[in-house]
Amino acid sequence: MPDRPIESAVRELKFQIDRIPDLRRMPEESFDLRLASEAFPEFVLRGNPVHVEGNIGRQGTEVTVHSRISYELMLECGRCLDPFPVSGEVSEYALFLHRKQGGPTYPEHEQYGDDGQVNLIPWLRELILTDLPEYPLCREDCSGLCVECGDNLNHGECRCARR
Ligand SMILES: [Zn+2]
Ligand SMILES: [Zn+2]
Repeated sequence: MPDRPIESAVRELKFQIDRIPDLRRMPEESFDLRLASEAFPEFVLRGNPVHVEGNIGRQGTEVTVHSRISYELMLECGRCLDPFPVSGEVSEYALFLHRKQGGPTYPEHEQYGDDGQVNLIPWLRELILTDLPEYPLCREDCSGLCVECGDNLNHGECRCARR
């Protein structure tokens, strides 16, 4: 058995190119883990850990990844601002290409740089963000906030209505 430093990479979903199995000689590496929602930086994806499973392999410097994500996250309602849970599943494929510094970009594909680190997190984060509703509502008929007093009208009439 070769040593398997890829196991720590699987935990973080950051793979060093030379540790990714070359499919011309080896089978794909699979991963199946739950990532704390805080693993997705910059944007507050609050909620339960995100379940990510899939596999990764390469042919030379071209890295192929399949991923299935299932999530249950808390969003803020666009009308009443109350948090509410949203769940979903995304299944996607990506090709990660090596982009040399100063070299051409590959807009249709994911890229990794000269450090050879293939980081799946930004890609997965984008998949989740794209899957989330553009204008989240806690329910179709959310009554929103009173424009006068700011009370949440889902919880009953506000002071203005009672006056
Ligand atoms: Zn609402
Ligand atoms: Zn009011």
